[in-house]
Amino acid sequence: MSNYYQKEIETAPREEILRIQNEKIVKQVKHVYENVPYYRDLMDKKGVKPEDIKSVDDIKKLPFLTKDDLREGYPYGLLGTDLKNIVRIQSTSGTTGRRVVAFYTQKDVDLWEECCARAIVAAGGTNEDVCQVSYGYGLFTGGPGLNGGSHKVGCLTLPMSSGNTERQIQFMMDLGATILCCTPSYAAYIGESLEDAGYKPEDNKLKAGIFGAEPWTEEMRREIEKSLGIKAYDIYGLTETSGPGVAFECEEQSGMHINEDHFYAEIIDPDTGEVLPEGEKGELVFTSLDKEGFPLLRYRTRDICILSREKCSCGRTFVKMSKPLGRSDDMMIIRGVNVFPSQIETVLLKEGYPPNYQIVVDRAKNNDTFDIYVEFSPEQFSDKVSEIQAHERSLTAAMRSMLGIGPKIHLVPPRTIERSEGKAVRVIDKRKLHD
Ligand code: ADP
Ligand code: ZN
Repeated sequence: MSNYYQKEIETAPREEILRIQNEKIVKQVKHVYENVPYYRDLMDKKGVKPEDIKSVDDIKKLPFLTKDDLREGYPYGLLGTDLKNIVRIQSTSGTTGRRVVAFYTQKDVDLWEECCARAIVAAGGTNEDVCQVSYGYGLFTGGPGLNGGSHKVGCLTLPMSSGNTERQIQFMMDLGATILCCTPSYAAYIGESLEDAGYKPEDNKLKAGIFGAEPWTEEMRREIEKSLGIKAYDIYGLTETSGPGVAFECEEQSGMHINEDHFYAEIIDPDTGEVLPEGEKGELVFTSLDKEGFPLLRYRTRDICILSREKCSCGRTFVKMSKPLGRSDDMMIIRGVNVFPSQIETVLLKEGYPPNYQIVVDRAKNNDTFDIYVEFSPEQFSDKVSEIQAHERSLTAAMRSMLGIGPKIHLVPPRTIERSEGKAVRVIDKRKLHD
C-alpha cells in the first residue's frame, strides 16, 4: 500500500477529478481572458470566447501557446495578475535558447510545493526522513521546488544545491540522508564519487532518490539504483508550468502520475496540432487549471510521450505519462537520420559501458560527422591498442543496428568526460556554428 500526501484527491474516482477539472477550467479561461491581453488576442483571432469553454472537452477549441510566444512576451507579457500579487520568479535553464521567466503568487508557490510533496511521499518520504536536495537553487526550479515539497512533508531538509560533491558526500554520510533529490546525471556522479571515496552502496542510509529535469533511460535507473543502493523515482516538470512535480512516479515505477487537479494534459500530433487518442505517442500539451501568476492554456511542451489510464497498483487515479521519449528539439538529424541521445544511452548501457558520453556532430566537406566519446568502465579499461579498437568496432556495430547509421566511437579512459552537477550536456552540435 502506498502512502499519499493528499489521499483524497490522489485516489479520487475519475468522475470526481473530471468534475474538479471542469469547474476549474471555466474559471481559469475567464481569468486568462480578462488578465492576459496576449492570450486574449490569440483567442479573439481564433474567434473563441470564454463562454465557449464549458468543460475540459472544449479545451481543444483554444489556441496553443509555444515557447516562442513566451519569448515574445518576455518578461511581463503573459503575467496573469498585478505584480503586487507576485512573490517569486523562476526561470528555465535555457537549454534551448533564450530563457523564459515564470511568475508565482503565494498560492501558486503553495500548490507547486504540494505537488512536490506528493512526489516525495510517493517515493516513501515521511517526516522522519532526511531529504538532501542537490538540485540547483536559484532561478532553476529544481532546488526551490523540492525544497518546498520536503518542508511540506516535514522532512529534515538539507538545502545542498548542486556542486561541491565532496561536501555533498560528507553531509550525506554525517547526517544520514535518506532521500536524495537531483538530476539523474548528478546522481550517477555522486554514486561514482562515493565509490571513489571508498564507500559501498550499503554504507549510506539512502533509501530513495527523486531524479528528473532531464531525460534518463531505464538502464540508467538500474545503474543509479545499484550504485547508491536505493529505489530511483522519476519526476517531471517544466518552469512554464511551475517546475518539478507536474508528474511523479509511484512505487510501480512505470510512468509518472500527472497532478490532474492542477494540470490538464493532452497529446497532440506535433505537425498538425490535432489531439490524438489515448495511448498514442505525441507532443504533451498542458493547460494550467488554477494558476494565478502565470496561467498557461494549451502550452506545447515539445516533450514527446504517451499517456495511459491503465489502473495503477498504487491506488492513484491520475493519468500516467511515459518518460519523455526525447524532446522534439533534442532530436538530431544526422545524415538525414533522426537520432535521439536516449537511443545512444540505451546502447551504451546494454553493452556494459557507463552512462558517461558526449556526442559531437559537425560538418566536413558537406557531410555530417558523428563522433561519440565514451568512457571505459574501470574493469574494461585497457591500454592495448588492438583491444581498444576491437571494443570500438563492436560498439560501432551495436550503434549502427540501433540508429541506422554508424558513429565514430572514441573510447576514453575512465573519469575523463566532464561530469555534470545539473543537467548533463550530452550533445555538442557544431553544425549550428557554421549556419
Ligand atoms: P529548459 O527548457 O531550459 O531545459 P526547464 O529547466 O524548465 O527548462 O526544463 C524543462 C524540460 O526538462 C522539460 O520540458 C523536459 O524536456 C525536461 N525534463 C524535465 N523533467 C524530465 C524528466 N523526468 N525526464 C525527461 N525530461 C525531463
Ligand atoms: Zn501509481
